[in-house]
Amino acid sequence: MIWSERTFIAVKPDGVQRRLVGQVIHRFERRGFKLVGLKLLQVSKNLLSQHYCQLTKKPFYPDLVEYMTSGPVVAMVWEGPNIVQTCRMMVGHTNPAEAHAGTIRADFSLHVSRNVVHASDSLEGAQREIMLWFDGHDLLKWDCIDQSCGFKY
Ligand code: UDP
Repeated sequence: MIWSERTFIAVKPDGVQRRLVGQVIHRFERRGFKLVGLKLLQVSKNLLSQHYCQLTKKPFYPDLVEYMTSGPVVAMVWEGPNIVQTCRMMVGHTNPAEAHAGTIRADFSLHVSRNVVHASDSLEGAQREIMLWFDGHDLLKWDCIDQSCGFKY
């Protein structure tokens, strides 16, 4: 198994306000992924416009900016085999109404504009977002005890 794949995950302001940070982290830990970067931050409009550069012309973008800058965000980098695709599955459809039961968005949210969590949608997207949100030296290289054999206990 290739452990070096990384993805960017963020608990959005509604998730932080609703005290869901621990539950979101728990989902990825429980799956067996490895946390390599974590910070709580107030997002600037500048950072957000770079993060959502493909969405700036969408009608919902002004609300998205207001939402994402309304309070702290927990930004994380996680590592593990096939992590980008797996985390997207675990997070669920953008619109919680269409998300499968058991996904984070289906379990914790009701509306597309307040959907609790972000996960990178591709390997390229993950690399871009990780570089945007984190300095390289804030990401830790460490060995999980279960990593060498490829399976978690
Ligand atoms: N969004 C929204 N209304 C929409 C579509 C998206 O408010 O009709 C917000 C929502 O918070 C979503 C984010 O914009 O998570 C980014 O949209 P994207 O299409 O990239 O979906 P995601 O990758 O987050 O599933």
